[in-house]
Amino acid sequence: MPEIDRLVVRFSSLGDVVLAGAVTTAFGDRTGFLTLPRYAELAGRLNGVTRVYTPGEALPPVPVFDLHNSLRSRRLTLGMQVRRVERQDIRRRLHVAFKAGPADRVVDRYARTARVPPAPAPWLLPAERGDVLLLAPGAAHATKRWPYWRALASAWSGPVRALGGPGDEAAVASIGGVCERGFGQTLDAMNGGCVLVAGDTGLLHLGAALGLPVVGIFGPTTSADGFWCHAGQVVEAPLSCRPCSRFGGAVCPVGDHACMRDLSIDHVIAAIHRALA
Ligand code: SF4
Repeated sequence: MPEIDRLVVRFSSLGDVVLAGAVTTAFGDRTGFLTLPRYAELAGRLNGVTRVYTPGEALPPVPVFDLHNSLRSRRLTLGMQVRRVERQDIRRRLHVAFKAGPADRVVDRYARTARVPPAPAPWLLPAERGDVLLLAPGAAHATKRWPYWRALASAWSGPVRALGGPGDEAAVASIGGVCERGFGQTLDAMNGGCVLVAGDTGLLHLGAALGLPVVGIFGPTTSADGFWCHAGQVVEAPLSCRPCSRFGGAVCPVGDHACMRDLSIDHVIAAIHRALA
């Protein structure tokens, strides 16, 4: 008899793997999770996940919920009983190019695929709450980086801790922090937090998955693009050029990066206080 009752597939990236927690939590125990090796530790901590598989391992003959729907996920689950997520790639592209309506929320598409209602966070063992303001200043794409992290860290009257992963070293060091090595350390570093402030990045979803109040700072992407699903606070500017990208880019297409520059420290501090309340 298989050691799991069902298998969820999502290979990457950090935010998508975390958001799959809305489904694994709803399923409960005896859920397997197929992902890339670098996300195996994290996937194994999601509520409901009792066994993690990586590509190349033999998969048990259980129903599969493919939340990636890629060539690789199709190849690895060939011949199995599978429901695959609707990707809505065209809707997402039209949303950016012509400001058409956004795609459905990611957690809703995942939940439709799995035929369960999406469970609200926390999707991981909740973080211990404290009084430290957690700041995650890094972002893979330059246009997603808010320029005022250092000033925010200086302006906040309470304790502050900077967080980040590989690639975030300079941003984290700029506000006196050191990047964690691995998800275990990142999750530990969120203990003692009161609010997590982050851009539209995987760490934003990770904080929400731990049950922390979050403040999301959105620039070239918007909170309506499908990834935001949290009961936190959003800071974003009402600019007609937004969203200009699905994932962020290297440079602002119109040159002024107003989507981030117009978001003052006061905007963000007000959102932190709303999140604390
Ligand atoms: S200001 Fe507009 S065009 Fe420039 S990065 Fe932001 S959303 Fe994109």
